[in-house]
Amino acid sequence: MADSEKKSARFVYADNAATTQVSPKVLEAMLPYFKDKYGNPSSLYSLSREAAEAVEDARAKIAELLGARPNEIYFTASGSEADNWAVKGAARANMAKGRHIVTSKIEHHAVLHTCKALEKEGFEVTYLDVDSDGLVDPEEFREALRSDTILATVMYANNEIGTVQPISELAAIARERKIPFFTDAVQAVGNLPVDVKELGVDMLALSGHKINAPKGIGALYIKNGTRIKSLIDGGGQERGRRAGTENVPYIVGLARALEIAVARIPELERVRMMRDRLIDGILSTIPHSRLNGSREKRLPGNVNIAFEFIEGESLVLLLDSAGIAASTGSACSTASLEPSHVLLAIGLPHEKAHGSLRLSISHETTEEDVDYILEKLPPIVERLRAMSPLYEDFLRGKQVHST
Ligand SMILES: *Cc1c(COP(=O)(O)O)cnc(C)c1O
Repeated sequence: MADSEKKSARFVYADNAATTQVSPKVLEAMLPYFKDKYGNPSSLYSLSREAAEAVEDARAKIAELLGARPNEIYFTASGSEADNWAVKGAARANMAKGRHIVTSKIEHHAVLHTCKALEKEGFEVTYLDVDSDGLVDPEEFREALRSDTILATVMYANNEIGTVQPISELAAIARERKIPFFTDAVQAVGNLPVDVKELGVDMLALSGHKINAPKGIGALYIKNGTRIKSLIDGGGQERGRRAGTENVPYIVGLARALEIAVARIPELERVRMMRDRLIDGILSTIPHSRLNGSREKRLPGNVNIAFEFIEGESLVLLLDSAGIAASTGSACSTASLEPSHVLLAIGLPHEKAHGSLRLSISHETTEEDVDYILEKLPPIVERLRAMSPLYEDFLRGKQVHST
């Protein structure tokens, strides 16, 4: 039993947007490639051929599940690497045509910080605003595209507030102008149907550990004909575009996990209903709370609520002692204690951005888990508010107004 499980009668994992547990079926598929089938796919003997075949089978499977061709799928060591590669690789390959990039203010740091790094290399980046739901306006997107724009990148679904962008519409606008379009689909894959042809994107990133494969494996779809420079030079793996001996067991695990996740998408209606029960239950029992992100255009498992007068970090710690694993938003903003760039972009003032909580549930969440969260959360919020000088000021102010 893990530490967190010992402290309370129940343990509810509600942080699936941060990471997921490796599923037993995925682990089972991987194990032979740690044990007997350990060959280097690049070697010539039969042991290695087995490993090479496993990699190619995984590539073909992933391609089929995403509506791509096998030679359009490249394995990386993470979602972050796939994001870096798509953005830096496409920018550097198209430098002769222009140096302007269009993205949004609510991208994952793997895209945002990559854009910042490119600014230091002489690229110019437009960071599009989003509306109060976190949506990019297609017309604003269209207007931001210029004759020297060489890349547009907007994430499919946001990891903090769960907002799902109109990707096919944005990609079509970019295509009219012959501008390559990349989407970080790390949160969308396994939660929404993802078909690269239907979406009309040129590049798409995914990550294993968000869909019950291990941490440390990702993939990038690169449509044939897309100009992109390599990020990692060395051996000739991945058709000479991404060096490094293939992580055979993890690649096998990624394909198996994606297969399971895609087959499960129809079942996510149940998760969507639990999500709505959580949102409605929290908003109706806890005063001065509001939903962050779009009510309708939302990932099936994402709940993100701003509670006035309290700190999200304290809330997460008290929930932990009640056996509930949740988050304030992104792992990165948790470490830096900076208010989340996503919450600021949807217009929350600093103090409200600080008081936000993300619960990300999954197919493994039960109705009892939802009941448990709805039972534990309100008294914890009340307890924190009782200690909050902001809340005291607010109550005093209300008294003054009402007399
Ligand atoms: C988790 C995540 C990433 C990073 O993936 P890693 O495999 O953890 O590097 C990128 N983008 C989004 C939207 C994510 O949720």
